[in-house]
Amino acid sequence: MFQVTIWSLPPLLAILVGVGSYLRIREKSRVPGQQPLLALLAAVIFWAAAQLVDASFTDQVVKVLAWNFAYVGVVLAPVMWFIFALSYTRRQMRLSRGMVNGILVLPLITICMVATNNYHHWFWSDFRLTNADGYVGITVDYGAWFYVHAVYSYGLIIGATSILAHAVSSSTESRKPVFAVIFAPLVVGIANLFYLSPWNPSPWLDLTTLGFAAGVMILDNGVLRYGVLDSLPVLRERVVEQLRDGVVVIDHQGYIVDINKSALTLFQAERETINGKNIRDFVTTVGLRDLLGRPNKKSLGVTIRDLAYDICPSVLDESDAESNVVLVFRDITDLRNTERELRDARDELRLQAHTDSLTGLNNRRFFMQRLSEEVARVRRHGSRLAVLLFDLDHFKRVNDTYGHDAGDRILQAVAGASAKVKRLTDVAARIGGEEFALLLPETDLDGATQMALRLREAIEQMRSANPEDSQIRVTASIGVAHVSQSSRDVENVLKLADEALYEAKGLGRNRVCYASP
Ligand code: GH3
Ligand code: MG
Ligand code: MG
Repeated sequence: MFQVTIWSLPPLLAILVGVGSYLRIREKSRVPGQQPLLALLAAVIFWAAAQLVDASFTDQVVKVLAWNFAYVGVVLAPVMWFIFALSYTRRQMRLSRGMVNGILVLPLITICMVATNNYHHWFWSDFRLTNADGYVGITVDYGAWFYVHAVYSYGLIIGATSILAHAVSSSTESRKPVFAVIFAPLVVGIANLFYLSPWNPSPWLDLTTLGFAAGVMILDNGVLRYGVLDSLPVLRERVVEQLRDGVVVIDHQGYIVDINKSALTLFQAERETINGKNIRDFVTTVGLRDLLGRPNKKSLGVTIRDLAYDICPSVLDESDAESNVVLVFRDITDLRNTERELRDARDELRLQAHTDSLTGLNNRRFFMQRLSEEVARVRRHGSRLAVLLFDLDHFKRVNDTYGHDAGDRILQAVAGASAKVKRLTDVAARIGGEEFALLLPETDLDGATQMALRLREAIEQMRSANPEDSQIRVTASIGVAHVSQSSRDVENVLKLADEALYEAKGLGRNRVCYASP
């Protein structure tokens, strides 16, 4: 038979509150402890549903069945509370299967005891249908095992409370989680003890499930939303917090599980809003795969707001494919700047090493290096190569007449003239005091001749930029050598050019001579 009484209200309310909390918590971003808290709610909802069935029917068979079912929720709720405390505070140490099984042994025995109570009456010594206040209910006398179960359940909740209280009080400055951790089990305890106490105005008034639903709400609001907690000793917590390096713990999908102050500053984020954020919201220049440190664990360079950081990912548990990963962000901006300065200095030195300081042309060393490269190329690839060697005529006289400084300025002007005459791929160098050379890759005799004639003329026409030097005229003698793959003397091309230059000097200077093929 069906009965509608006021005693259906508490379990109905518990179901509503429980389902509401369940949906809300499930919607949240992944936070440690979330799954056990949902399981706790499921147990409470199941328990309250069984209570509602018990309250709504008058048949003994239905009621006994409902009581039996209710105990599944009754024994599991404290277990889930305890597992919540463990998984919430010991995220680094994954709950082992053995541990969970160990916690579950006694509750499973209790469920068996309840189911088989008819045969031994160890759980309920008496179990009878009574009618009071116009309501048909079941009145029980408890057997010995009930007390074992009760002590164990209270033990789990007290244990969970101690674990949570210790972790919360040592790792957050906020008082709210501490308050919630103490207050939530208190609500459950008071509701349950009130039901069992002689002060309960009616034997049908059981607010325990409602107490549990309220307790979970308190835990959710006061503890779970803070998300990040650690049972690590306070000192280590502080060290990580005070570290100048940014430290971020992410799960295998990149969601931020924990973060220190430096990383919050780096991300320009608030601790309150970091929950449920993904590392990809902040680090956009490298992929998640790299951040997770698999397959290679090398450090990554990123730029965040013009500062250079080195991210070093380390997987917390190598044996777990879905392990959390710690990312350490180190500011390497200064290091990068120093590196760049060093690189610039090195480039400058390298440039100086093959530059002639007076004229800015390449020096002899560089010229010889390029010459041997080009010679090798002619040998290997059958290209052509011409070398122009030129020496200023009677330059000693220029120095003697106008002074050494004026001579220097003329050398600079000659360098300018030869740089102007040469093509981009040619190499102009000062290879001696007043001796210069032009390396002309891929140039035949005709091209080299044209170049030599233009150069001779350019030097003859040349005027120093300095008005003091307006009287000074210089000329140059030029020796031209040209080789191709078939030439016998590819390696001697410079010597050939020198012989041609010597010939030009001998023939009266200010002229171009060619090396005999
Ligand atoms: P030629 O080559 O026509 O036979 O006569 P030359 O007078 O040019 O030949 P020589 O080799 O006798 O003299 C080269 C002169 O070049 C000697 C030196 O006064 C001058 N000279 C060499 N290096 C420099 C330099 O760096 N600056 C200046 N101002 N003069 C230099
Ligand atoms: Mg000379
Ligand atoms: Mg000379």
